[in-house]
This record gives sequence, structure tokens and C-alpha cells, in this order.
Amino acid sequence: MALDNLRDLYQQVILERYKKPRNRGTTTPVDRYQKGHNPSCGDTIELTLHLDETGDRIEDVRFEGEGCAIAMASADLMADALRGKTTEEALAMVQRFQSMMKGEAEFPNELRKLNVMQGVAQFPVRIKCANLSWHTVKAALEQSTAQPAVVSNE
Ligand code: ZN
Repeated sequence: MALDNLRDLYQQVILERYKKPRNRGTTTPVDRYQKGHNPSCGDTIELTLHLDETGDRIEDVRFEGEGCAIAMASADLMADALRGKTTEEALAMVQRFQSMMKGEAEFPNELRKLNVMQGVAQFPVRIKCANLSWHTVKAALEQSTAQPAVVSNE
């Protein structure tokens, strides 16, 4: 596939996720709640997690929020990818995503959907948009209880 077509495909996926997100809403119950904000673009996200009884596996991930297509698509793709993962796996994915935004990594085949965000690494001003939901889920997983909190990725 030519590079231009590949770029179009990525844009298509991002726009489709933005227009028709699959993971909007709030989990039932809410075991973790975390708000995130990206002041450089104005993106905000309210992320909720439902964990299993051990508190170590993510049963469900939902988000609410307002922002640009990149921030919202990134959150939606992230929610799909994190469902069923352990806390440890999820934190490793956060790290890998952040490395991908520096152009230093990509996801293996079973998580390749996340690689559609790879193109964002070429646009430094948008990297914070893509990272917002990942930054927010990291803060949510590092909480010991469901205390409301606000993080900023500035
Ligand atoms: Zn944004």
C-alpha cells in the first residue's frame, strides 16, 4: 500500500472513531474515576474503570469528554485495547504508547489497531492529544481507591 493511502486509512479510522465512538459512557460499577485535561488543545476526558474482584484486571473502560478527533479517537481505541488486561499489562501499554508517540515503538500484531495513532508522532503539537487518555488511565490505575481526581498532562 502506498504511503499516502496508508495515511488516508489512518485518518479514516481516527475520524470514524471520533464520529462513532464505541466506548463512550460510564462503567457499572465505577471502580476508578479519573479526569484528564490537555490545556494546550482544550481536550478533557472523564475516564471510568470497572475492575474485577481482585482489583487487578480491567473488566470495562468507558470515557466521556470533549475534544479534538485525535484525543477522542485515541481514548476510544485505548478502551478497546485495555478491556481484559491486567493492571501490569495496561501500564506497560501506556509506556509503549508514549514511546510510539516519540517514534520509538509500535504495538505487536494483536494490538495493531493502536498503531493507527502512530502518524500523530509526526505532529508534535498533537502528541498531547493522543497521549491524554493514556496519561489519564495511568493515573486511574495508580490510585488505590475510587477517589475523584484531576490530572493535567501539561
Ligand atoms: Zn486535542
